[in-house]
Amino acid sequence: MAKLSIEDLKDFRNQRVLVRVDYNVPLDENGGITDDKRIKATVPTLDHLVKGGAKIILCSHLGRPKGKRDPKHSLRPVAQRLAEILGRPVAFVDDCIGEKVDKTIGIMQPGDVVLLENLRFYAEEEKNDPPFAEKLARNADLYVNDAFGSAHRAHASTEGVAQIIKKRGGNCVAGFLMEKELKYLGGALSSPTRPFVCILGGAKVSDKIAVIENLLTQADAILIGGAMAYTFLKAQGFGVGSSLVENDKLEMAKSLLGKAKGKTFLLPSDHLQATKPTAGATTRITDGPSIEDGWCGVDIGPETIARYNREIASAKTIVWNGPMGIFEIPEYSKGTFEVARAVAGNKNAISIIGGGDSAKAAKKAGVDKQVTFVSTGGGASLEFLEGKELPGVAALSDK
Ligand code: AMP
Repeated sequence: MAKLSIEDLKDFRNQRVLVRVDYNVPLDENGGITDDKRIKATVPTLDHLVKGGAKIILCSHLGRPKGKRDPKHSLRPVAQRLAEILGRPVAFVDDCIGEKVDKTIGIMQPGDVVLLENLRFYAEEEKNDPPFAEKLARNADLYVNDAFGSAHRAHASTEGVAQIIKKRGGNCVAGFLMEKELKYLGGALSSPTRPFVCILGGAKVSDKIAVIENLLTQADAILIGGAMAYTFLKAQGFGVGSSLVENDKLEMAKSLLGKAKGKTFLLPSDHLQATKPTAGATTRITDGPSIEDGWCGVDIGPETIARYNREIASAKTIVWNGPMGIFEIPEYSKGTFEVARAVAGNKNAISIIGGGDSAKAAKKAGVDKQVTFVSTGGGASLEFLEGKELPGVAALSDK
């Protein structure tokens, strides 16, 4: 079901708009913000609301304070940085519910911006506690969710609050950032231009079973890399040496291989193997899909890179999630970076990179700006690829 977006809101002058953002920014030991990309990413939504004369009430989580007030996890520094970025004052309230919040919002003028304190100072936030959601919702006429990275969790600020505002007749809409995620990830899954090629890597097959099952019904080709490939190869009877393998998932891997029969489901046909999965080990390219005893797989090999690149080059829609090897170690990063370059190099395709490690890898390879879209939510984008409806999206108003 298509959801209302911020562009569908016509007149919101003077309206109190509660905006769920993702300001879970990395902080150094002195509380300094080391990367403000998540703050900057919300500017289009905030500018739009300021221009339209809304009263903007921002709420977010930061870190894992586990339901307790903890100055280390305060959003105060974010208010300051946001004010610099927006070039206008941002008031900070050191609570997210209660009298202080009510009073501050009561004196807001059109175009004013207020940031509330960390939602997770209350355990009720993650429990989606109805009275807490009521308190959050009480000062809002409208709700905007621009925090895709939190949309897979049914928390008070992502789900409960939207249900309450909707019940009162207020619209609950996707912000520009959320809308982009739904457009690209949603578009790839519901109506991809074909061929639709998915590249899946990373450490564990167990994290991606549901993704593979869903993509087997949607994609034209699935290319597997990273350590998760070894569980599949072992299930097929190949040697895996001392590679990272999930032995308790071999039956599951066999069952997925069964479901993949007749489909283009590619596993590595060679590897870079090393004597240890750490930097500086002795390395060798394997002769075929087996890894020798005493060695472990650390990256896909040159033949696999060439095969995968051919599939990627012919795609019209590409989704990539998970590295092809231990890309954090430069000697083992070639497969991941080559795949990143192939994805970015296919200018005929819509190329989408799932959040987390593949986004990091694309950035390290210097191609993150050349792909169509990099998702901001690791866990959320995986659940999306599993075909699940995210609670934070489901709670928004239907078109
Ligand atoms: P994930 O969080 O499941 O996407 O996994 C990402 C992690 O998988 C990265 O930290 C990689 O270093 C790791 N990884 C990828 N390939 C391998 C491999 N061949 N052996 C061990 N770890 C790997």
